[in-house]
Amino acid sequence: MLSPALCELTTTDDLRALARASLTRCGVDIDALAGAGSSTITARTPITGEDLFDFPAADAADVERAVDAAHEAYLRWRTVPAPVRGGLIKRLGELLAEHKADVAHLIGIEVGKISAEALGEVQEMIDICDFAVGLSRQLGGRTMPSERPGHRLMETWHPMGVVGVISAFNFPAAVWSWNLAIAIVCGDTVVWKPSQLTTLTAAACSALFDRAAREVGAPENLNITVPASGADSQALIDSRKVPLISATGSERMGAEVAPRIAARFGRAILELGGNNAAIVAPSADLDLATRGIVFSAAGTAGQRCTTLRRVIVHEDIAEELISRILKAYSGLPIGDPMSESTLVGPLINAGAFADMSAALEQARAEGGTVLIGGQRREGPAGAFYAEPAVVRMPRQSDIVRAETFAPILYVMTYATLAEAIEIHNDVPQGLSSAIFTLDQREAEQFIAADGSDCGLANVNIGTSGAEIGGAFGGEKTTGGGRESGSDSWKAYMRRATNTINYSAELPLAQGVSFS
Ligand code: NAD
Repeated sequence: MLSPALCELTTTDDLRALARASLTRCGVDIDALAGAGSSTITARTPITGEDLFDFPAADAADVERAVDAAHEAYLRWRTVPAPVRGGLIKRLGELLAEHKADVAHLIGIEVGKISAEALGEVQEMIDICDFAVGLSRQLGGRTMPSERPGHRLMETWHPMGVVGVISAFNFPAAVWSWNLAIAIVCGDTVVWKPSQLTTLTAAACSALFDRAAREVGAPENLNITVPASGADSQALIDSRKVPLISATGSERMGAEVAPRIAARFGRAILELGGNNAAIVAPSADLDLATRGIVFSAAGTAGQRCTTLRRVIVHEDIAEELISRILKAYSGLPIGDPMSESTLVGPLINAGAFADMSAALEQARAEGGTVLIGGQRREGPAGAFYAEPAVVRMPRQSDIVRAETFAPILYVMTYATLAEAIEIHNDVPQGLSSAIFTLDQREAEQFIAADGSDCGLANVNIGTSGAEIGGAFGGEKTTGGGRESGSDSWKAYMRRATNTINYSAELPLAQGVSFS
């Protein structure tokens, strides 16, 4: 069923012109690329649902060649001093700042993100570059006391090799930069397989990186981007020349790639689906909680891995909180993400809207009541603008336990905090979580060992919008990976433990005698 018509959208011709100009400024000649390559991926925009350009696709042989070339580049790059490697990321950060609007335009055009969020994504890239530059002078190991006289025990960290980066459509640039910036300062090289839905953004980012590399005199092929399908990316998954795969996407994708990487004893950083919840306690500041909930649940049209999908609210304040959420939802400006006043843009494609409709149907069958939303706004045939939905659920159910990548917020009630935490943790995924409370005991309980089981556990902020300084990632079917800040860099390096004997004796460890 269609509900109120959308305001006028930016036309496909205007979006195409903006994409072409942004790409050109980033160093990509889209018209020259259009005819290249034997097979193509068609770049499209969810804003109007129409095609933009044909883009040359990489096939399985291209991916294999990319792995070989990135491996050759690694053999040279690993001996470049880390602070010098940091110089390349410093220049990349400067170029991203210079082209912030260009990259943000491409993200907006290909993903349908509103400008503020698209610009935020590029800011995150600039921030991780800053972080990695600092890190390039801090890749230190520890020295431990040796049990033997005249011996020194220490650890050193070394580059690993080629890092395969597989990224999802919804963070088409930031996820690459989280991995790339850290990998490059660690002395690794990168083969990047972006989502096939975001090839233009990937082309712009890669061109900026190549320019930075040229300007600082770095070797070629430190990052090679392969716009390939999942099926054509198998050389990346299976090659022993790729010691680490950082894969971001659905639990389904993780379940396909993880066993194959494990079968060759490769390392994986898996950043998979989330099913994020917020507990709202009786003492919560309801103004703040409502704002946090609405941004986390409806922002990015529900298409963030950290999107808030479940609210578990104390029964005494449930009606009040729900009425505040519904009031905010009823005024959400839905429409063209290129317009400054829009807060909710389109879903990525027809499949996403079909998933949303099917989930709402299942929620009803499982006893839920749709309180608001779920309908499609009238607009172009290929564009899917969905009204964010709020569904009251009597209890946890199968659909509530699944991640539907669309703006659906399930609301459930609880009586005791222990019950709330039990409901909270009773899902397969473990990415992000939050509690809204002014009671310090409850806040501490939520982030304690027997509290939230997620990789991110917040107090009095929503589930989305992480900073790069912390390690990002989640547990259970979210995959257990960590990337971005803190000590996540350790996953991109190999550790060697060195025992150095500077004496003339050869004492054995544990006092073993072998004479
Ligand atoms: P998706 O799983 O459909 O695709 C993700 C990427 O994996 C794409 O590049 C795709 O081509 C590739 N891929 C899929 N199957 C593959 C295979 N067998 N071999 C190699 N590559 C394969 O996900 P999507 O629709 O692009 O993104 C949405 C999903 O990503 C959601 O589940 C969301 O929660 C998740 N996500 C997670 C994080 C995180 O950090 N945890 C961040 C962003 C998105």
